[in-house]
Amino acid sequence: MAKKKSAVATSSRQQWEELVDAINEARAAYYQHERPTISDEEYDRLYRALEELETAHPELVSGESPTQTVGGDRSEMFEPVQHLVRLYSLDNAFNNDELSAWFDRIERALGSMPRLLCEVKIDGLAVDIVYRDGELVSVATRGDGVTGEDITYNAQFIGAIPERLTAKKPPSLLEVRGEVFLSTGNFDKVNDEQMAAGATPFANPRNAASGTIRQRMDKRVEELTAARAASGTRAQARIERVELEYALAVGRLSALGFTAHGVGAREGIEVTSQSEVYALLDTMGVPVSDRMAVHDSVDGVREYIHYYSEHRHDVEHEIDGVVIKVDEFALQSELGETSRAPRWAIAYKYPPEVVRTRLLDIAVNVGRTGRVTPFAVMDPVLVAGSTVSMATLHNQYEVERKGVLIGDMVFLRKAGDVIPEVIGPVVEARTGDERPFIMPTTCPDCGTKLRPEKEGDKDIRCPNAVSCPAQLRERLFHVASRGALDIEGLGYKAAVALLECGVVQNMGDLFLIDANSLRTCPFFTREPAKGEVGPQLTENAKTMLANLEQAKSKPLWRMLVALSIRHVGPTAAQALAGEFRSIEAIAGADIDRLADVEGVGHVIAEAVAEWFGEEWHRQIIEKWERAGVRLVDAAPDESALAPQTLAGLTIVITGSIPGYTRDGAAAAALARGAKVAGSVSKKTSALVAGESAGSKLDKAESLGVRIVPAESFDVLLQQGLDAVLKG
Ligand SMILES: [Zn+2]
Repeated sequence: MAKKKSAVATSSRQQWEELVDAINEARAAYYQHERPTISDEEYDRLYRALEELETAHPELVSGESPTQTVGGDRSEMFEPVQHLVRLYSLDNAFNNDELSAWFDRIERALGSMPRLLCEVKIDGLAVDIVYRDGELVSVATRGDGVTGEDITYNAQFIGAIPERLTAKKPPSLLEVRGEVFLSTGNFDKVNDEQMAAGATPFANPRNAASGTIRQRMDKRVEELTAARAASGTRAQARIERVELEYALAVGRLSALGFTAHGVGAREGIEVTSQSEVYALLDTMGVPVSDRMAVHDSVDGVREYIHYYSEHRHDVEHEIDGVVIKVDEFALQSELGETSRAPRWAIAYKYPPEVVRTRLLDIAVNVGRTGRVTPFAVMDPVLVAGSTVSMATLHNQYEVERKGVLIGDMVFLRKAGDVIPEVIGPVVEARTGDERPFIMPTTCPDCGTKLRPEKEGDKDIRCPNAVSCPAQLRERLFHVASRGALDIEGLGYKAAVALLECGVVQNMGDLFLIDANSLRTCPFFTREPAKGEVGPQLTENAKTMLANLEQAKSKPLWRMLVALSIRHVGPTAAQALAGEFRSIEAIAGADIDRLADVEGVGHVIAEAVAEWFGEEWHRQIIEKWERAGVRLVDAAPDESALAPQTLAGLTIVITGSIPGYTRDGAAAAALARGAKVAGSVSKKTSALVAGESAGSKLDKAESLGVRIVPAESFDVLLQQGLDAVLKG
């Protein structure tokens, strides 16, 4: 049976879309091309019709409506402004070949490679600011480069744009160009507000900055004044609403940042290069980027590009590339411009990280600790260099918070190595056929009723830890993972096969697997070749058996990670293993004793005690022991492996340490008697800080914890902390 939809709702949405399109088209024609396509009266009529429709159907109002972004009737705000000197857009290079071609052109035209200025390309909105005798006189959007929209009125709310230049003798004229942007934190906040209001989140900070700056603040002020002047029973409620909206708008504008990236018209100043301009603007109180760098060589430029492709998300705002400019103005003039863009600059663009795709379904996954996680199933889409078709949605509250419906078009973000994330729905693209996600109440794998671990938990779980097939499978697979016992040959399919064939009942049987038991399972066997009798083990099966044997003598902390004790990752496992040195001692310790261990704490301690309290868990341990798994680490005094240079010290390791994996560095420190903790505290003896060390470094500095640079890590291991500090 076809779904019955309200005919009224459908037709008003259609009407709304038509009006929005017509108004936007007219606006684009007027503002961007200065060629009005319809008369002012016709425009006003459309605009009023839209307002009426939205009043009657408030659910239609969205961030993309012209009533919400830019006022329909024309006033000084958003009037066309002629820039004094044209703002060019930049040519783009999307790969190394295109960049090399640009270098070649520059070198050929100038006879040698000039000094090149590099700066990060802020994902924001370009604006043009005119100062006369040091006083701000106008701010305009970039527009088409020749004509922009007047946003002077709104600029007064943007603290980052100075209203006057701090100079004893300011230039009589200075046209400053730059980027208005939202920091990453403010961008997320704005999008949270959008979603809370049921509107489409902004796909990127550029759109958010644009939407923020292009609101009718003049209208809001008028509305506020009118509301305050009115009287009557409903006046107070109206004042409150208007004041709230006004405060929100002001808050958003004042959250905008600004960074200058050039100058246009100027009188009364002498500057000879781009870098000199930045230095000068800096002295006059105009924000410039401290990430700017001038390079004499192409190699330096390439390194700069590479650095920011790796550290793209360490910058406080989004960047979408790097801009390279010939530094000297005389050489810029010599190179000149094409009709579109200057020849003396190029934007090297990083791959896009936000795309649109269709949310086909929301399914749920049962994890190794029973946690039930909804995840998005999407039309496969290429983003940041890889094809993405799934993304976790964490829990049902997150699905609600994002406001996504099954069938929605959604914005999807995939940043570097970070896992892909659904940002939110494109509300305007809805057809009415979308449906909300309903969190299942029973486990999709075993049918057990789902429940939170304890009241107030956002996560819900399948409590059937003993026999839920999903949990058995996930745990078995986890034992083999790199962070745990790293068993080659035991992948996801192998884990499924082991359980389905009954070779193992649960992970307790893992080390009892032998060639005979594997031969009973088709996944691990192949047809006999000539001269062979009966089913033969595959190469994969042999690899798995050999790796299982090796895994029996892995360090204790890896065993702990392999057991899938909730909250126990490598760091907590290392702390526990370092303190207790045997599984028996950990099993016998009470909660307080466990919680006392540096890097463990109460939550983990409880989870550990609870885990060992389960009879069937202890059976797993017994089975492993019987199979010859070593569940004891050598005590430091028995260890002939390494001198105990770090005995008694608590070390935290952050960032990348050359020559070591994260686990490897921790293991090396542990082997020399250190405790390795996951977070910096007053008890920390030293922080080993590798490249891209983040908040831990800040914390260590603020606590006065001693910091060991990554290159001194080997000295630390071999000679101890004093040697490093002396060196
Ligand atoms: Zn289950």
